[in-house]
Amino acid sequence: MKIDDKFEKAEFCPECGAPLVDNMNCWEQLGGIISWEYEYPELLAEHFKTVACYNLQHPAQFTDEAIAGLKTALIEHLDNGLSVAEIRRRNGKSYEGNRRVLKDISKRNLVQRKWKMTISDVYIPHCPERAAERVKEWAATIREEL
Ligand SMILES: [Zn+2]
Repeated sequence: MKIDDKFEKAEFCPECGAPLVDNMNCWEQLGGIISWEYEYPELLAEHFKTVACYNLQHPAQFTDEAIAGLKTALIEHLDNGLSVAEIRRRNGKSYEGNRRVLKDISKRNLVQRKWKMTISDVYIPHCPERAAERVKEWAATIREEL
């Protein structure tokens, strides 16, 4: 086993603190939720929240600026109903000219933070039916904790 594999399969996520679910780490749980989106349009409708929540709870790979922009976008989306289309339009603009969103690997610093809800509260294997509601709840708890 490579060190990377060990790290990825830590029992609890070194960033958001979520436990493995069915031996799936956070990234794989995110993939699980996204794979449900094809069948559940109400979950697909929350795609922005799903990805924003995941990224906000796994900020190490992003620049501080990218995370600050994502926080603002989520807050405006939840509090003021800023549409996902508008968020995309603004991001398109701010990332014009290839501004970097990801940090160099050497500058990534994993800091674990405790959250009320993590992806493991949303990704409940074989229970996609209420996943959209769980995503909304997840976003609301993150909004409170930002
Ligand atoms: Zn995590």
